[in-house]
Amino acid sequence: MESKSELITLPNGKTIKVETGLFINNAFVESVDKKCFETINPSTGKAIATVSEASSKDVDLTVEAATNAFYNVWRFVDGKERGRLLNKLADLIERDTEELAALETLDNGQTISTAKFIDIGHSIDCYRYFAGWADKIHGKVIETDPSKFAYTRHEPLGVCAAIIPWNFPILMQAWKMAPALACGNTVILKPSEMTPLGALKVAALCKEAGFPEGVVNVLNGYGPITGAAIAKHMKIDKISFTGSNATGRFLLKAASESNLKKVSLELGGKSPNIIFADADLDQAVRWAHMGIFFNHGQCCSAGSRVYVQDSIYDEFLTKFKAMTESNKIGDPFAADTFQGPQISQKEGATLLMGGERHGNEGYFIKPTVFTDTNENMTIMQDEIFGPVVAISKFSTMEEVIEKAHLTKYGLAAAVFTKDITRAVKLSNELRAGTVWDCEPFGGYKESGMGRDLSKYALDQYTQVKTVQINLDSH
Ligand code: NAD
Repeated sequence: MESKSELITLPNGKTIKVETGLFINNAFVESVDKKCFETINPSTGKAIATVSEASSKDVDLTVEAATNAFYNVWRFVDGKERGRLLNKLADLIERDTEELAALETLDNGQTISTAKFIDIGHSIDCYRYFAGWADKIHGKVIETDPSKFAYTRHEPLGVCAAIIPWNFPILMQAWKMAPALACGNTVILKPSEMTPLGALKVAALCKEAGFPEGVVNVLNGYGPITGAAIAKHMKIDKISFTGSNATGRFLLKAASESNLKKVSLELGGKSPNIIFADADLDQAVRWAHMGIFFNHGQCCSAGSRVYVQDSIYDEFLTKFKAMTESNKIGDPFAADTFQGPQISQKEGATLLMGGERHGNEGYFIKPTVFTDTNENMTIMQDEIFGPVVAISKFSTMEEVIEKAHLTKYGLAAAVFTKDITRAVKLSNELRAGTVWDCEPFGGYKESGMGRDLSKYALDQYTQVKTVQINLDSH
């Protein structure tokens, strides 16, 4: 049955219409059980809208739709047309930037400029980038026995599910959907239960762009219900996941106990920022500050451990503290706000500053800086995913490399030095998927498996078929 839509009122009085059902076969529908849940505005702690919640029954129906679309329609759509549709989607997202950004700021709490320029802006780039690849996916001719002709084809996997987090809702959707669709797969996207609205709006734009029925589907719902039903499904060919390590482990187990679906994981981090005495100090302070406090510390690659060479440690702390004190916390819709609310309520060495709630309403916390930390402390090991940084000293390069490696994570790292030899040596040594800042994106160690973005992402959404033809009758 067709689902309802809701008119959402923004703080400036404008309204946005959002379809709140499940998006299956290019239609917004109620869930089979008619269950719903509320999505909350983290600035106020109050409900914004009520969206449909998918159970395993809805997952079954959606897999059927996506499988039909893959085998009967999408498989026959050539790369040029897939690219055209992705470009069209990018154009529509660009057209609706203001509306999409306002929805993200309301639903997620990210500042309006982050929503516009990062969440939406980078999503547009991502769809256009993969639109360009859609007609350039090809195999190789293999030189073999002269009596044979052998070649490979890079074929789509089939039905790809994407399970994504709440920190950059529209961008995470783009990172998963753009390469999957470019490679010719159909998609079932499960947004985070905390931020479903952006995904639903983009789903409506997919329909407007002209994607055939069943090619893009969106299922709202909770991880242990909707997500788990996806993870265990026997007819889903792949899950691409971004989120916490605990969920990543669950997905691998579910895949191994069901149909061995392919799994790629982008997981957590505890990334080091390493600052040598020869670095431009003001620039290092600015980037270390941005590295942890951008998007309220809610970035998987946040530089949550800062190592400063001992001779500049005190001066660094003074400047870092001054810059952090100027972070303006408050209404994420205000143009000069640097830090809006956290996505939800969170729990909370030497405490240099912060560590408390800010204000009485919503989920705001003060930026928090710990100093003189060591690697045995929980704060140096556990991902906090908030505006909390631990700063400590080092004296030699060997010492800081050893310290940088003393976590289970390996997502990102940054190095500040004017010595190019040292910079290259460190980028080779550090066990991190990204040593700032280049595509592709993904983790070493327990920070994940597989890569998002770039040409490498195409390998995550295709499988290689070898074809051999006998040229003579032997
Ligand atoms: P989360 O693992 O709790 O949730 C992520 C998604 O998984 C959500 O859609 C959720 O509903 C779903 N989920 C939860 N339990 C599930 C289950 N049992 N089965 C199936 N699906 C389930 O993570 P989060 O709190 O939304 O996001 C924060 C985490 O994401 C942090 O650890 C952060 O580092 C990580 N992250 C990583 C990257 C990266 O690229 N490496 C990017 C952004 C965020």
